[in-house]
Amino acid sequence: MDTVSSYATLLRQCSTPSSINQGRQLHRQIVHAGLATDRFLSNLLLQMYGKCGDLDSLLRVFHSIPTKNAFSWSIAISALVDHRNLPLAHALFDQMPTKDEFSATALLAGYAAAGDLPSAEKLFLSMPSRDTIAWNSMIAAYARHGRMIHAKTTFDAAPRRNSSSWNAMIAGYAQNGHCKAALHLFRAMNNEGQRCDMVTFVAAIDACAGLSALVAGRSLHSIAAGAGLVAHVEISTAIVNMYAKCGNLDDATMVFSSIRNKNLISWSTMITAFVQNGHTDRALDAFLAMNVDGLFPDAVTFKSILSACSHAGLFEHGFFHFDLLVHDFGIAPTMDHFKCMVDLLGRSGRLLEAEELVQTMPFVPDDVTWNTLLAACRVHKSVERGKRAAEMLLELTSEIPGYYVLLSNIHAAAGDHAEKAKVRDLMEARGVRKKPGWSTIEINDRFHEFTAGEKFQHPKKQQILEELKRLSVLMKEAGYVPDTTEVLRLVNEDEKESLLFFHSEKLAITCGLISTPPGTTLRVVKNLRVCSDCHSATKFISKITRRKIIVRDLNRFHHTENGVCSCGDYW
Ligand code: ZN
Ligand code: ZN
Repeated sequence: MDTVSSYATLLRQCSTPSSINQGRQLHRQIVHAGLATDRFLSNLLLQMYGKCGDLDSLLRVFHSIPTKNAFSWSIAISALVDHRNLPLAHALFDQMPTKDEFSATALLAGYAAAGDLPSAEKLFLSMPSRDTIAWNSMIAAYARHGRMIHAKTTFDAAPRRNSSSWNAMIAGYAQNGHCKAALHLFRAMNNEGQRCDMVTFVAAIDACAGLSALVAGRSLHSIAAGAGLVAHVEISTAIVNMYAKCGNLDDATMVFSSIRNKNLISWSTMITAFVQNGHTDRALDAFLAMNVDGLFPDAVTFKSILSACSHAGLFEHGFFHFDLLVHDFGIAPTMDHFKCMVDLLGRSGRLLEAEELVQTMPFVPDDVTWNTLLAACRVHKSVERGKRAAEMLLELTSEIPGYYVLLSNIHAAAGDHAEKAKVRDLMEARGVRKKPGWSTIEINDRFHEFTAGEKFQHPKKQQILEELKRLSVLMKEAGYVPDTTEVLRLVNEDEKESLLFFHSEKLAITCGLISTPPGTTLRVVKNLRVCSDCHSATKFISKITRRKIIVRDLNRFHHTENGVCSCGDYW
């Protein structure tokens, strides 16, 4: 072996920061051997310094190369991008005598990853003939910033598309909540004969999870199984998550048990699924089993466990696990962990301790923290403390109508109707509007979307209204009383009732009832928190119609059966 190729072999072995000393020694030997001007070795030195993270030495070597070739430039630029020195990377790019796609794309991806969309766009537009990687980077950059219309325009305009282009779009749609568009594109990709890979499947399965699309999700599961893809832990974990988000814990657990090489994400997904579906015992068991399996929980796993404990009111367990987190696993508790503890104290009625924790935790409490305390004050009728929490809350965030509702309920519970009216006036003066509510339901692989209000559109509108009227009569006979406490608008009681009547989840549930055979489980997704009236109505409907109704709201699942909800009426 000649000297150059032995040096090359040795330099390639120095690929992590820990091998920097060995790399420097090789550099000295190369200089000593009179090979410092060898371009091939100089490029390898650039690569070595880049991988080891010594950018000063990298730049010194770069500037000392008398005849730099395209490789020298692109190695230096990519290394600077990798180490997030974008200004210097761009300066080098500007000095490049002949700009190549590789360096431009590396820089573009760097801007995209750093969130600098304008610079990415400017560079993209200045590139004379762009290759597919550059187009894909731009699509991914738009998608990452939620600009799906720009992403789609770029995708459509791309001269060539490969599976990465499709993946970037499908994943972008799924992550930005446009799950229907994601599934639509997945089907289009198949129709065009484009090969789907693991990334595509994960994105499409995530889209089904987002929609609670059980039929579509199940069919993707069987396609993935047929293609031998379920052996990949990423795919099977996505499937577990999909079944869990559809409220189908049995299938989620079955797929989970079949994963041979479960990783931290698989365990956390399963634990979160148990928690959100109200199975605290199973969540705690899984937490233990995970430890036995030799995997250490991280901050995310602990968040799930603590929220499980607070939802179930398991006071001792909560404190035990908080202690475990800090002392046994040495994890610095985050604001989320503290919120769980505030919730745990609040639910147990230890309001003084809860308030003290909010004031003494090592983070500035945010609106969610104050809201947690406020919710506990409402349940335990602690008016003064509730008012204090509400004031802090409304000072931090003034646009969320739910917060005004909570404060108004506290005044109402204390019988102070003048104060209650003031809250409503404040809300109106500030122009706070309730975000429009919508619900979806999947019936025979098709989605039906409902917006709140009597102007909703649906081919079966007439039948839905008739059935809903019929059900209201039966519900009232069974003891249902419309709960108007969450309606703040200045209207009389009858009008309040009719506002509640047209809430989107009621419309979606009724549509499901008249469109499916008796006994079919209904799965509804709601974009906001379920209001107390719809929650109570769903329980009555489940009992009257003998249906299992699963509503997934912004925060959790409500498995309602025979008049009882899995959340224990605390959500
Ligand atoms: Zn409602
Ligand atoms: Zn519930």
